[in-house]
Amino acid sequence: MKRIAILGATGSIGTSTLDLVEAAPEQFEVAAVTAASNVAELAGIARRTRARLAVIADESRLEMLREALSGTNIQAAAGESALAEAAVSADLVIAAIVGTAGLAPVMAAVRAGRTIGLANKEALVSAGALMIEEAQRTGATLLPIDSEHNAIFQCLAGQDCDKVARLILTASGGPFRAFTLDEMAGVTPAEAVAHPNWSMGAKISVDSATMMNKGLELIEAHHLFGLPESRIDIIVHRQSVIHSLVEYADGSMLAQLGSPDMRVPIGHILAWPRRMATQARRLDLIEVARLDFEAPDPVRFPALRLAREALKRGGAAPLTLNAANEIAVEAFRASQISFPAIAALVEAMLDAMDRPLPSSIPDVLALDSEVRAIARERLAKLSA
Ligand code: NAD
Ligand code: MG
Repeated sequence: MKRIAILGATGSIGTSTLDLVEAAPEQFEVAAVTAASNVAELAGIARRTRARLAVIADESRLEMLREALSGTNIQAAAGESALAEAAVSADLVIAAIVGTAGLAPVMAAVRAGRTIGLANKEALVSAGALMIEEAQRTGATLLPIDSEHNAIFQCLAGQDCDKVARLILTASGGPFRAFTLDEMAGVTPAEAVAHPNWSMGAKISVDSATMMNKGLELIEAHHLFGLPESRIDIIVHRQSVIHSLVEYADGSMLAQLGSPDMRVPIGHILAWPRRMATQARRLDLIEVARLDFEAPDPVRFPALRLAREALKRGGAAPLTLNAANEIAVEAFRASQISFPAIAALVEAMLDAMDRPLPSSIPDVLALDSEVRAIARERLAKLSA
């Protein structure tokens, strides 16, 4: 029996995780589940999985959660410290909160030396150096759930990265892969969220459309596998069948393939170092028939260049990139700015700010708030 905690249990990754865990009750015991604000859904999940602890991030909803769990012996809790408590309550914590909101709970798990199935890439992008350093100190294990990084992890098969020539991250290219710049200027939030291959939360779907998702993943790969950005390539592969590749010094290239279903990488991490069965659709290579590859277009997708520059610059540049992007995506989803304005705001913020990475998580979070406030001010000026 593995004891697991699911942070962000009501989201897309959370739901896929629950699907696997509930289909294998003899393998998993759920210690804790968390959500931002949806009390009814969280309480339902906690009851179904017989979790011991249910945490709602929004503290004003604690009473509601208590009521929804009355008659059970599930503990109800709310707020930041309760999220951290949930994060250390199990052997394996699935980190599936979206955005920097997940950073403090992930760090709590790292500090406690836990094993973390990391989906929440923004946490690693914002504070990667601190997180990796702390994991080395405490013996915490970071296991990648993000499909590309999970593919690389599988292709590395426990080998050191010193014989790796380069990592190759594949990108679907998103819904606007073939759009002109003019066409992109007029796209709506609904169009941006409709991903051709994957079903995901709204924020990451917009990130896939701008390809900022691949930029964040470049930074994520750098931290997880310890390679410099010059040895991490990005290629567009529109079928999303090959999830990423590792090229070794001897010229061998290893790839991991599968249908675009997050239950495959999540199942790999849930069962690691063993394997488990999943209900994910089997890949039919005859049906797939062909695999296409092309170079990403840096002109139509400036986010890739911005992420690479941020990683090269170091310090708090990746944090700035991520925080500005979160604000820009929010504004785009609320129809306050155009689609190309997302990357434009991120670029302006990178130009305006040049800070070292703070050495503690509270200071990282303070800087994150500061970047968000400045980004919001800029947006307000633009629309004034
Ligand atoms: P989602 O929006 O579907 O779910 C997010 C979850 O986080 C929800 O449970 C929500 O209640 C919770 N949450 C949101 N804001 C919160 C806050 N302020 N405090 C506490 N909890 C909060 O997102 P998702 O698509 O499941 O993505 C989750 C993470 O996994 C993201 O970092 C994303 O980049 C990463 N990821 C997702 C996919 C995918 O297929 N969905 C693939 C790879 C990586
Ligand atoms: Mg991914």
